[in-house]
Amino acid sequence: MQKITVAKGDGIGPEIMNATLSILKAAKARITYEEIEFGEKVYLSGNTSGIQKSAWDSIRKNKVFLKAPITTPQGGGYKSLNVTMRKALGLYANVRPCKSFHPFVATKHPQMDVVIIRENEEDLYAGIEHQQTDEVVQCLKLITRPGCEKIVRYAFEYAKLYKRKKISCLTKDNIMKHTDGLFHQVFKEIATEYPDIEADNWIVDIGAAKLADTPEDFDVVVLPNLYGDVVSDITAQISGSVGLAGSANIGESCAMFEAIHGSAPAIAGQNIANPSGLLRAAVMMLNHIGQQDVAEVIKNAWSSTIEDGIHTPDIYKSDVSLQRVGTQEFAQAVIDRIGLKPKQLNVAEYAKNVRLDIPKYTRKKQSNKMLKGVDVFVDWKGEDANLLATSLRQFNSDIKLTMITNRGVKVWPEGFEETFCTDHWRCRYEVENGHPAEKSSIPALLNHAIEAGVDVIKTENLYEFDGQRGYSLGQGQ
Ligand code: NAD
Repeated sequence: MQKITVAKGDGIGPEIMNATLSILKAAKARITYEEIEFGEKVYLSGNTSGIQKSAWDSIRKNKVFLKAPITTPQGGGYKSLNVTMRKALGLYANVRPCKSFHPFVATKHPQMDVVIIRENEEDLYAGIEHQQTDEVVQCLKLITRPGCEKIVRYAFEYAKLYKRKKISCLTKDNIMKHTDGLFHQVFKEIATEYPDIEADNWIVDIGAAKLADTPEDFDVVVLPNLYGDVVSDITAQISGSVGLAGSANIGESCAMFEAIHGSAPAIAGQNIANPSGLLRAAVMMLNHIGQQDVAEVIKNAWSSTIEDGIHTPDIYKSDVSLQRVGTQEFAQAVIDRIGLKPKQLNVAEYAKNVRLDIPKYTRKKQSNKMLKGVDVFVDWKGEDANLLATSLRQFNSDIKLTMITNRGVKVWPEGFEETFCTDHWRCRYEVENGHPAEKSSIPALLNHAIEAGVDVIKTENLYEFDGQRGYSLGQGQ
């Protein structure tokens, strides 16, 4: 018996969780569960995190968490519990299989069978945001080598285990050469270790468009957090219904399984929600904990129910469905089919699958890091960059003012008349020769700026790593 943690959540959460638990019980899943209070009730009791300490303790002790959707109350101050869970528990991989069930569930993409593997902790979701001037706010996009290696290796190991043929990596490294460039670089490196799996890369905009148009051309897709968030919802939706897809959030120690949809408050309490997304998440959970036999039984019974045209209202279509049923009746229909196998849909065969354990990240040899200068960001309400340059060029040491940009575009020396400028200016100081810059030049430069009345809001050091430039050039430079 494996003990898991369960949260029934809000809105339709309790209905779909009860349906799912009844099917797990009927299929003789070897689990017991501990229920925790989680979500709206906890938020509204004054706990802005939406989760109590005892609930954290249960999840960390049991390490496997089956979670129904929750409602995040409107208004400021409430933190997204989903993002908190993923990051606090180190659930780095979000795995979302999106398959169509043609001809039993209406879809424009009858052949699609895509697994989206989304990085779950980094990127713009690091949540590091600042207002820096009256006109400018920023969000820091953090991409790390350990983060990229873990998610990309997970994707390749997943493809190997589930006998998938191809992995596509979606990035925007034509623009973000360092952040998305690192993700793509790690993808290329790790792909060489898996010669039997085809690997390709798409720029995310055209890749997402192709995925939405011809999903049957894709197999496994791995991508950074934000693109993954957007693309995985599109992929789930075009497979038939958001009510059908489940997802796994996998970490080194804990794992969380949930439907991809929210708490659908408008249809709560009416016994019409589709429990399939949460049930399919529970099937992923059973695979994760080594109960492939039970996972197979449930998946086959579910597929048989769908094939028999027994459908909840979200997927009911008079030309393909035979019986419109409620949440409980659907669950009972699945229970009645335990032991049956689908006739047309794929028969689930999970028996040989095992839980994926990715080796721990080992830190690489330290590179030779050389300081080459500093970007000094200033809040300045003027318009003529020449005036700003005149005041900042007075400072002389081993680093010299070489460029000013506004929103990344070079405005000094020799900008374009048409460039619109905000009150947020990046002033780049660099060494003139190949030598390293003196670190003490940076505080000296800042002191000079203070004396000259320049409002410095932040700095970024410019480094070379093993002779490779570790910062982007200005647009137009
Ligand atoms: P939603 O996913 O709850 O609903 C979107 C649409 O899909 C609605 O029309 C809904 O009726 C329908 N739908 C969703 N699940 C269904 C199901 N199982 N069966 C039939 N129809 C279903 O998204 P929303 O309306 O944007 O969000 C509602 C609440 O859920 C919000 O408070 C939001 O913060 C929360 N939410 C939670 C999670 C989560 O806990 N993982 C995820 C997304 C949204």
